[in-house]
Amino acid sequence: MSASQPIAILSVYDKTGLLDLAKGLHALGVRLLGSGGTAKLVREAGLPIGDVSDITKAPEMLGGRVKTLHPAVHGGILAQTSKPSDVEDLKAQSIEPIDVVVCNLYPFEETIAKEPKPSIAQATEEVDIGGVTLLRAAAKNHERVWVLSDPKDYAKFLDNYKSSNADAAKANRNLLAVKAFSQTAHYDDAISNYYRQQYASLASNSTDVVQQLPLRYGANPHQKPAQAFVTAGEMPVKALCGSPGYINFLDSLNAWALVRELAEATGLPAAASFKHVSPAGAAVGVPLTELEAKAFFVDDLGALSGLATAYARARGADRMSSFGDFIGLSHPVDVQTAKIISREVSDGVIAPAYEPEALEILSKKKGGKYCVLQIDPQFEPSDIETRTVYGVQLQQRRNDVKITKDLFTNIVSDNKEVPEQSQLDLLVATLALKYTQSNSVCYAKNGQVIGLGAGQQSRIHCTRLAGSKTDNFWLRQHPRVLSLPFKKGTKRPEKSNAIDLFVEGTENLSAEEKVEWEAVFEQVPAPLSADERKQHADQLTGVVCASDAFFPFPDNVHRAKRSGTSFIVAPGGSVMDDACVATANKYNMVVVRTNLRLFHH
Ligand code: 5GP
Repeated sequence: MSASQPIAILSVYDKTGLLDLAKGLHALGVRLLGSGGTAKLVREAGLPIGDVSDITKAPEMLGGRVKTLHPAVHGGILAQTSKPSDVEDLKAQSIEPIDVVVCNLYPFEETIAKEPKPSIAQATEEVDIGGVTLLRAAAKNHERVWVLSDPKDYAKFLDNYKSSNADAAKANRNLLAVKAFSQTAHYDDAISNYYRQQYASLASNSTDVVQQLPLRYGANPHQKPAQAFVTAGEMPVKALCGSPGYINFLDSLNAWALVRELAEATGLPAAASFKHVSPAGAAVGVPLTELEAKAFFVDDLGALSGLATAYARARGADRMSSFGDFIGLSHPVDVQTAKIISREVSDGVIAPAYEPEALEILSKKKGGKYCVLQIDPQFEPSDIETRTVYGVQLQQRRNDVKITKDLFTNIVSDNKEVPEQSQLDLLVATLALKYTQSNSVCYAKNGQVIGLGAGQQSRIHCTRLAGSKTDNFWLRQHPRVLSLPFKKGTKRPEKSNAIDLFVEGTENLSAEEKVEWEAVFEQVPAPLSADERKQHADQLTGVVCASDAFFPFPDNVHRAKRSGTSFIVAPGGSVMDDACVATANKYNMVVVRTNLRLFHH
């Protein structure tokens, strides 16, 4: 039946290139049918074109809402003419197959971007229904039907349509179908995004399915609007108090993923203290020694719950970096943990649940603006993750590799002894790296991160940075630091800053800075001598040093040793692997080779 004259349906909002295309199609013997405005323009140019209503025998109606939605159109597009039953169906309804669909859509995105903003009713009128249906139908049947959704494709189409090279024509038809499918997907995204933003804030009922959370702003205050949303299921995160910004949200999701996995892998409550999308600290609830409790500023609280201990450790890893942190907690938040948080400078917390009194404490923080997020612990992210950078979408499989003790069985050093306690630290260090911006190196001991170097371009710089943080962490537990004579009323962050300068060494401070530093003490403490430092440093052993990728040179091993490393865990792959192991052997270190790279961005 289509041996007769091929048919093209033309229905375009953007009429660019339309007349040349119509001319070309006409010259190729194609019968043209157009929707209202499209047909009018072609006709006025003196080209023969019929109306879609010639085949539907129904007028456009509802003010243009229904133009091409009709079996005569969609039967003609979707029919597989190689299938006798389809041919029969067409014949029974006197429908002719359609060979070419030319369509582009009402400008929904442009309309909603206009100032002043259109009303929802005005925006709704720009939701193209028939056009999307034309594109999807034609794209679905691309085995036979050509679908043109972009004026830029008209010229090439005309060449291919008349070409005798069937393979080239088919390849072109396939690509045009991909483009049409992408266009309808993009269009639907814009529409669902618009309505999500319009209606999400109106959802008041706890049974309402909410997919969106407005964010205060993007990475910077001038980056507005900003939002977090899901396109399937329900938003797994609720703001119980405060309003998160974009970086808060990045931190919270990474922190949650980390503590969830830490708790799962170790069977202990876990906590993480995030800043700028890397952990400043992360830990599990290994009970604190008296010294640790003092160094972490929680010695006044008595025995701590597992979760409170984990946060005390996570916060204590690098108190300066944790200033204004976003906290992740693996278990329902108890009062003790809330109390620790309430007296620290912090931006927010994410956890699966909150005891009512704990929520009350947190909700009072920052004058009621403290960000308290609740995540559905059952939520499973999809396997594929997508992000847009500079207008280009990037997609990858989520890093869903499970980190368990089994990862640490390949020991390539002479010394193969890993005590139980250090097994735990291997897990903590490796999992922390899984959620740290690369390159990264992490030192861990006693179930917690003690030094973490994130986001460095050179591996040795990570090892040094994490090493110097480890040294600093350890020196903060020096008896002289723990008994520094602070003036009464000195605030916790001021103490942390003063301690940091003390352990770094105050010799090079300017006179002005020295005066400020000295002002927080009852009596100015004498600096730590080189001997005191060395003696204390020598007591740090049994540290795990993990790297998110191979060590390219043995300098990393030497540097790790200086911060008490006894266990190295890293993937191999460097030409210097053997040299690194040989260096580790000289120090009687254990080297665990994982063969698992853990870059994170
Ligand atoms: P025209 O300018 O030809 O009157 O309209 C072209 C526009 O109508 C195209 O953007 C096309 O996507 C859209 N369109 C095609 N069929 C229908 C339909 O049945 N309903 C609606 N609302 N729009 C349609």
